[in-house]
Amino acid sequence: MHKFRSVSRQLRFDWTLVHVISESMANTETESEIPRRRIRQLDDAAVHRIAAGEVVERPSSVIKELVENSLDAGATAINVAYADGGKTLIRVTDDGQGIPPDQLPLAVRNHATSKIDGSDLVNIHSLGFRGEALAAMGATGRLTVRSRSTGSPAAASIVVDGGVAQAVEPAALSSGTVVELAGLFRAIPARLKFLRSDTAEAREINATVKRLAIAAPQVAFTLHDVSGGGSGRRRFRADREPGEPAEALRGRLRNIIGKEFVESAFPIDATTEGYALRGYVALPTYSRGAAVSQFLFVNGRSVKDRLFAGTIRAAYADLLSRDRHPAAALFLDCDPDRVDVNVHPAKAEVRFREPRIVRNLIFTGVREVLKSEGRRTSVRVSSEFIDAARPESQPNLHVLNRGRPSRQAIYAGFDMQRPEGLPEAHAWPAEPSEGPAPSPETALPSEAAVGGQKDDTFLQEAPLGSARAQLHSTYIVSETRDGMIIVDQHAAHERLVYERFKAQVSENAVNGQPLLIPEIVELDGQDRENILGVAEDLAKLRLNIEAFGGSAVCVREVPAILGEFNVPAMIKDICDELAGSGRTSALNDRIDRLLSVMSCHRSIRAGRQLSTIEMNAVLREMEGNPFSGQCNHGRPTYVELKLADIERLFGRR
Ligand code: ADP
Ligand code: MG
Repeated sequence: MHKFRSVSRQLRFDWTLVHVISESMANTETESEIPRRRIRQLDDAAVHRIAAGEVVERPSSVIKELVENSLDAGATAINVAYADGGKTLIRVTDDGQGIPPDQLPLAVRNHATSKIDGSDLVNIHSLGFRGEALAAMGATGRLTVRSRSTGSPAAASIVVDGGVAQAVEPAALSSGTVVELAGLFRAIPARLKFLRSDTAEAREINATVKRLAIAAPQVAFTLHDVSGGGSGRRRFRADREPGEPAEALRGRLRNIIGKEFVESAFPIDATTEGYALRGYVALPTYSRGAAVSQFLFVNGRSVKDRLFAGTIRAAYADLLSRDRHPAAALFLDCDPDRVDVNVHPAKAEVRFREPRIVRNLIFTGVREVLKSEGRRTSVRVSSEFIDAARPESQPNLHVLNRGRPSRQAIYAGFDMQRPEGLPEAHAWPAEPSEGPAPSPETALPSEAAVGGQKDDTFLQEAPLGSARAQLHSTYIVSETRDGMIIVDQHAAHERLVYERFKAQVSENAVNGQPLLIPEIVELDGQDRENILGVAEDLAKLRLNIEAFGGSAVCVREVPAILGEFNVPAMIKDICDELAGSGRTSALNDRIDRLLSVMSCHRSIRAGRQLSTIEMNAVLREMEGNPFSGQCNHGRPTYVELKLADIERLFGRR
């Protein structure tokens, strides 16, 4: 423990030194020999300014420190205001326990804190502990702290301007604390240059406050832009969330990430060896184009962890295309001594004592949720859509005449599109009468496999119900006990082929189908090199590729499970996948991704009529498959309309 502490001191010392060195280098003419300069001890003000830059990097980091102070003080309501992107003014008001007048001078002094006594840097239970934030703010601009400690007869305030503290003065305030920072970096003009536009800083502030608010659902938050004076424009508001912690968190996530997130998210609750993981993960059908909806909190502290995004990504690997990002808000709790929060001046990063255990917990925890919910939960038609489709909300249009709603409308909030290159017409396995004989794998389960069960049994007991019709050679319509289901047979098939394919690979039982006439595919140099580089992996999947001439590859054998397909198109997709994922991903991930890319290419022919038995067979296979709720790109394979939804559509409810 003691060794630990001295290491962290050492780090700080070195950091200061780096600044000193770089400063002296900047002043040196490089042409002549480097003149030897005397080593000087920097004065306190210079040391402070250097250190201040580490803690308060930009307006959002000031706000983070102040809100964390308010949370540490037990606040139940925190109001944040800023002007001009936080550059001219930042103000945080709370109703916490306050600071007694005689302690105000200490509060704004460097390395002065009420939260630890310095003897144990390992067991840290508060958000702050370094005693630097207020001092740093006072060194960069004009800081005013006004506070009334609970039980104190009066409030008091202190001002620190450019590092110089003034005397404590009486002030008017009924309770809590108001901290105001005017002219951030006025005392360090060089740093002002590193700030971005007001809009960009404001955006960062917004994101920061929301992150903090997710971690404290029982605390009310407001955020105002007070540029130009007055009470300002409200940017964000979150009331105190009632209920027990999980319920409160759900409410807060609804407010911050959105209703659709909460509706497609499932609680996660996993523990291992002293680590507990809870929170919510969204089904792959709710994914985003950027990783903005991923939150990780360690012991209540929002942290950036480079491993986190990769770990989540891995858990969703074959459920999401590469350009989509999973959404999750996860809270990891453990004994404070198992995580070092003192590795970053702004405490934005942490170091786990057992990173492997943590990674594993996150991976398996998320994976388990996806597995157990992936099939059971289809996309339920959003209530917005139902409301919009109700006759009374469209008085001039009969609901049936509204034309086909767009996919976007049906999946409101699910944000999905058919990927390029997939035909509009959906295909089912090749007819036995056409083309080469279908491989046994592509064939549908026979009637015998379905067990000759009567429709009524499916209707009552099977989650995906009993098939009633096929529409447009594309959609299977099925009746369930309490509603109806529409299956996109193309998407479902893609997923089922993938899962079968994967099972074959893991059992080392992939069948190959030699091509009568080998396919020659022209590729550009890098693609050719990439794909030949994984030729051995591909051969295990029974995709046999060899170099051919200077610029092409020759495909001699393909996996039988894919039936008949456009070989060059698939080879190009594999090349794109390889170019995108690079060499970094682990072999297993890579194989899964390749399988997924390949599975999109099975027998593409015009949509095919299915018999009732075939349709039921599809439904049963989907039920048996934990990940059948979405295709390999994260789009849903089926949607569900509950009877209650249908009744609402018709205005019966
Ligand atoms: P740290 O949070 O690391 O202790 P700070 O510089 O952020 O360091 O704050 C110094 C001290 O001032 C805190 O330890 C706390 O005692 C007091 N303090 C700061 N902000 C508040 C607040 N909003 N309410 C009550 N006390 C506060
Ligand atoms: Mg603090």
